[in-house]
Amino acid sequence: MPSPMNLQAPNLLFMVGIAVYLGIRNYFQHRVRGRKTSINESSAGDKLLIVLVVVGQIVLPAQYVFSRWLNAGNYLLPMVVNVLGALCLFVGLWLFWRSHADLGPSWSVTLEMRESHVLVTRGVYSRIRHPMYASFFLMSMAQGFLLANWIAGWAALVAVILLYTVRVPQEEAMLLRSFGPQYEAYMRRTGGVVPRIGRAHGT
Ligand code: SAH
Repeated sequence: MPSPMNLQAPNLLFMVGIAVYLGIRNYFQHRVRGRKTSINESSAGDKLLIVLVVVGQIVLPAQYVFSRWLNAGNYLLPMVVNVLGALCLFVGLWLFWRSHADLGPSWSVTLEMRESHVLVTRGVYSRIRHPMYASFFLMSMAQGFLLANWIAGWAALVAVILLYTVRVPQEEAMLLRSFGPQYEAYMRRTGGVVPRIGRAHGT
């Protein structure tokens, strides 16, 4: 009788990665609890994008791994691709943790500015402006390289591309309004999710 679940090692590794990811989020969420918001630009559309990312990143992979519901989309992946996926997972989780640690109290799930919001330009923010979204991209690649299923494997990448293209212009406009020339100068010396080559960096 075929297994009612897809519990192969790469799938389980990804689910462990998701548990670590949720643990990191939960830890930092506790640390910013009670911080007051001064500007809230979170819209219904922005919240919908977050829901899409959660469905793509967590709900569909769990559905695929722990049931047979999505098995129509299964295919085979060579082990070398799985190894690449594990690598993306480790680097993605490290970057997710570091971006939370460096952003500190300036972090929020939606588009917000805190009271006495500080512009962070150090740590993983010294070369790229969106290391947390870069970690989402890495985690989405890991998902595609570890879960051999068209839907569960690639759903997060679609959601993250959407989040990135819609949210980043709004987020940068908000930071430009708050920090003006300081953010402009920061934009000139950094990349979005990939570091700029051949430019001076630092704070
Ligand atoms: N786009 C960033 C941060 C995501 S969290 C990343 O990918 O790492 C979203 C919140 O972070 C936004 O509401 C904004 O207020 C805040 N933010 C983004 N970049 C920041 C920076 N360099 N310094 C301080 N706050 C920042």
